[in-house]
Order: sequence, then structure tokens, then C-alpha cells
Amino acid sequence: MKGELSLPSSKFEVMLDAGHDSNQVGYSTSIQENEYTKEVTSRLYELLKGNDDIKVSLTHELDEPLSLTKRLEVIEEEKPDILISIHAGYDPSPNLRGMRIITQLPTNPEHDNSVLLAKEIQKAFDDESNFVAVGYYYYVPTHNEKVALAFVPLEDKGIREYETLNILQSESVPTVVVEGLNINNPEEVAELTTEETYQKTAQQYYQAILEMKEKLESSK
Ligand SMILES: [Zn+2]
Repeated sequence: MKGELSLPSSKFEVMLDAGHDSNQVGYSTSIQENEYTKEVTSRLYELLKGNDDIKVSLTHELDEPLSLTKRLEVIEEEKPDILISIHAGYDPSPNLRGMRIITQLPTNPEHDNSVLLAKEIQKAFDDESNFVAVGYYYYVPTHNEKVALAFVPLEDKGIREYETLNILQSESVPTVVVEGLNINNPEEVAELTTEETYQKTAQQYYQAILEMKEKLESSK
């Protein structure tokens, strides 16, 4: 009978990854990157929790450090519909500002959905005052046997034989890494780390997630 059927949970599942924690603090300037990621992730988590159509989870509790390896295990076990890893970026030039969104590589089976998610986030944040770049990160070998992280714009789909960030390597979960600001730009930091702007940032992510949910559900 129709009314007695109990279907498995079909909620849209969003997993958030606060990209840093008290063990891996990330970039450190006038603020520490792990503070920024925690402030944004905790507010976005609360917004998502308030939506009955969404299941929200975290790769790690915000006050409990967890290694990247373990976080990758959590992701593969949980297999959310989307994963957003929240960071701040760092540019040596203190005058540069803006957000950078990193997608999965063209060779990854989730590439297209990763780009779709990146574009929704870009749309939610892009305005005259805030430039949002979308692209790939590659670990490119340098002359002294080290590797440097190189950013390649999305338009450049040429296949490269290099690895990207570990968190972007899942082949079953559409994932993006977002670097929300240039943590080396004191003006941008001051502007985007107030109670009000943290809340606004979380709202913008939330809007992008709702759009993405709709896109994925209508394509099923
Ligand atoms: Zn980071």
C-alpha cells in the first residue's frame, strides 16, 4: 500500500570539508586559514541543517583534527552527492583579491559535475567587487626535483600528466575546492572576516548548493 512504503532516504547529501584544523592550520597571515575555514564551514553547516530536503555531513568535526587520508576515507564511505572543501588562498601579492574555485581534472569521471558546482558557486559570488576564477590545480615538477602547484584556467582543457590535490581525486563524488579570499591581502581579510560577511559568505554558498541540487535532481 502506497502510504506504508518506507523509502530509503533520498535526501540530497552535501558534505563540507573545513580544509584545515588545529593540526594543519594552513596559511598564516593576520589570521590563520583554519580560523577562516571554521567560521565559514560552521555557518554554512547550520544553514544546510535547517533545510529538511538536505542531509549535511562533515569530513571531520570542526574542533577535531583529522588527517587528509582519513578524511578521504570518510568521503568514500559516505559518498555524498557533492563535496565542498573550504579554504583561503594565498597570493604573494597583497594587492590581489578574489576567490578561486578548483575543479576535478578533465580526466576525472566527475569532472562535469564538479564544473557545474564550481559555476554555481562562481555565480553566487561573482560581482563587480569580487572576481571569481575557476580552474584546475596541477602539481608540476620544477627543475630542482620539487613540485609547484600551478593554476590552469578552466578553458584550458588540455590533458596534463600531473596529479591534482588529493581531496579532488574521488572518482565518485563531485568535488570542488574553494579558496575564498587572498589571505595575504589585509584589506580583503578585514572585509571578509566580520560576523556579517561570514554570514553573507555562508548564504552565498547555500544559494549555490540549492541551485546545484535542483540541477542534479532535474537531470536524473
Ligand atoms: Zn588551504
